Amino acid sequence: MTQPLTVSPGKKIRLKDFDPGDTGKIKNKAQTRAELEKNLETLNELGYRLYAENRRALLLVLQGMDTAGKDGTIRHVMRGFNPQSCQITSFKQPSLEELDHDFLWRIGRAMPRRGNVGIFNRSHYEDVLVVRVHNLVPKQEWKTRYQRINFFEKNAVDGGTTLVKIFLHISKDEQRRRLQSRLDNKTKRWKFRKDDLAEREYWNDYQRAYEDALTLCNTAYAPWYIVPADKKWYRNLVISRLLCKILKQMNPRFPPAEKGLKGLKVK
Ligand code: AMP
Ligand code: MG
Repeated sequence: MTQPLTVSPGKKIRLKDFDPGDTGKIKNKAQTRAELEKNLETLNELGYRLYAENRRALLLVLQGMDTAGKDGTIRHVMRGFNPQSCQITSFKQPSLEELDHDFLWRIGRAMPRRGNVGIFNRSHYEDVLVVRVHNLVPKQEWKTRYQRINFFEKNAVDGGTTLVKIFLHISKDEQRRRLQSRLDNKTKRWKFRKDDLAEREYWNDYQRAYEDALTLCNTAYAPWYIVPADKKWYRNLVISRLLCKILKQMNPRFPPAEKGLKGLKVK
């Protein structure tokens, strides 16, 4: 059975309850191609209307363990959108200047403008994930961040930005395969850092930190979506479906034309 992507706000999320290998009723990649292409066309059309409307924005937040498929999702699903109306931000270790500000400072600056689709490759959630796992700030500080993130996101939603927060859920075994393939494959080796192996040792700590972030920041106005991501083709299909659904609900409309255009002829 296909598992639901969402959990009711307030309910404790346990990642063990979600199968990263789930593919619903779909058996292989070939069965996803036609629908994926159709969905990408729909995204293109709806994204065009969002841009023309120029009132609201969509923000996709991508989180997941190393190799979970954040880059792959951007490459395979976001190609549906016109690059002109996309703003992609990859959040790395904060710079000295960023560290001189509150953790939400760099996030606020990267929020998509009206009419645009923003994509966060990692996000403010790193500040309750890597920061928590490695004690980069004291516990009494990161503890306050869940609520501050909720306030921040509420403010963004009230200001006209729809948030789609996606957790790409992979298994530890699949991460091993993907890291190994980065090592073995000349065209992927550039992505590999020895640090990735050290981080993998913290797998359980990360899962726990994710469970808290997913539980404490799963709000009605900005819910989390847990996407089974061991199979890339299923991940891409599910995310394309989700974005189509959300953009259809937003139903962006072309703005009214300027008055007095009727009957005008271009000489
Ligand atoms: P990558 O996504 O492979 O380019 O790696 C980016 C790295 O930056 C990851 O190891 C993240 O954990 C790290 N990173 C992102 N945001 C933060 C943050 N706020 N504090 C510390 N490290 C971060
Ligand atoms: Mg990396």
